[in-house]
Amino acid sequence: MVVVGSGPAGSMVAYHLARDNFQVALIEKKRHPRRKPCGGGLQEKARRLLPFDITAVVERVISGMVFQLGLRDRFTRRTAEPVAYNLSREHFDHLLVRQAIGEGATLIEGEEVRELEFKEGHVSLLTESSRYLAKVVIGADGAGSVVRKVINPGGVAQEAVGMICEVEKKRPIASIPEDLFIVDWGTVPAGYAWIFPKEKTWSAGAMVPRALSRHLVSYLGTFLEREGLSLDMQRIKAHPIPTRTAGEPISSHWGILIGDAAGLTDPFTGEGLYYAIASAQRAAFWVKEHLQRGADLRLYEEDINQGLMQEIIVAGKLRGFFNTFSRYIHNLYRRNDRLWMAFCEVMRGDRTMEGLRRVRTRPPGPILNYLERFTSWYEWRQINRFKPPWQ
Ligand SMILES: Cc1cc2nc3c(=O)[nH]c(=O)nc-3n(C[C@H](O)[C@H](O)[C@H](O)COP(=O)(O)OP(=O)(O)OC[C@H]3O[C@@H](n4cnc5c(N)ncnc54)[C@H](O)[C@@H]3O)c2cc1C
Repeated sequence: MVVVGSGPAGSMVAYHLARDNFQVALIEKKRHPRRKPCGGGLQEKARRLLPFDITAVVERVISGMVFQLGLRDRFTRRTAEPVAYNLSREHFDHLLVRQAIGEGATLIEGEEVRELEFKEGHVSLLTESSRYLAKVVIGADGAGSVVRKVINPGGVAQEAVGMICEVEKKRPIASIPEDLFIVDWGTVPAGYAWIFPKEKTWSAGAMVPRALSRHLVSYLGTFLEREGLSLDMQRIKAHPIPTRTAGEPISSHWGILIGDAAGLTDPFTGEGLYYAIASAQRAAFWVKEHLQRGADLRLYEEDINQGLMQEIIVAGKLRGFFNTFSRYIHNLYRRNDRLWMAFCEVMRGDRTMEGLRRVRTRPPGPILNYLERFTSWYEWRQINRFKPPWQ
């Protein structure tokens, strides 16, 4: 079988399948170690899904957050156990692909898959120099997936844009602790900005809905300025963050989509590493069932709909609540230990997003439905009427 793309999703699905003695070819358009615009924050729940040690590529262990509302009001929350890790994607992705190769997967680098055709029971994949035949294709080729264009020609409806800038550490800055994530939320609706400390740099970034992408540079610039840092225009990189909406196809009788190619990202935080690794695990299971027992590959989609998609749907609803009641929720995080601990449990994987929604007394069903509809509408209105508060 062929896996297109060797980011975390592609390498991990190849790892699982090769480990079970299936022949796997990973086709990658770039060459490892390669850069990828990403904050490099890996939640503990994602680390727990990795069946090998990643200590060698961890640059910082994160045990708390600085929450800032509207570029101003901030407070710090810490916890005893690590909630996340900061890593450079260059090294992390290289480690993952080496693990897949170690299990027997074949990596074909520097070849971009341009076209796919289904013919006589096989998929034919065309690169600029070769043609590959496969019974099963796994699309792990990220946000601009060429495999998705065949499996889901309608595309992913919901898209945010993320921007990243690696800011060189010239001197320590007391307000940016080395073991915390700093996030600014409630400034741009459905968006936020962050600083993640790494060994030699601060990984600074922001994500906003596509409709507000024209404000991305000025938002990130203002956020950094207030932290005593400046945005280096030569070092910024922007990249789409697609999020799947329920019903968008991610499977066919010959192939499946995983990770960003499937739009499996958190609509609240833009986090996608956990979903890439988790969907790779589910994909490996269903591809094995397909090849050994003839199971329909579309069962993978059903599995994702019942599992990971539920997390994504709840994250989208929580984002709506946050955007509607941002000051109230910000202050809840400041004062309410149970809520903060529940948030940490979600990052560690001890609790699901659904569990976070239940941490306070849950309103009766019809009221909750009304609130969810209202907050989603309110968020949409905020996005459409947005005027940057920093100008
Ligand atoms: C600015 C920004 C910050 C982010 N920060 C975080 C964060 O801190 N934490 C987090 O969890 N997530 C973060 N994300 C999301 C995260 O980067 C993605 O969800 C994650 O990379 C998805 O992994 P993937 O393997 O599905 O895709 P990718 O990592 O995009 O890998 C896809 C691979 O496919 C290759 N490829 C693409 N097209 C082809 C082709 N046609 N032929 C062959 N190869 C191809 C690419 O070269 C690449 O190697 C961030 C995203 C952005 C944009």
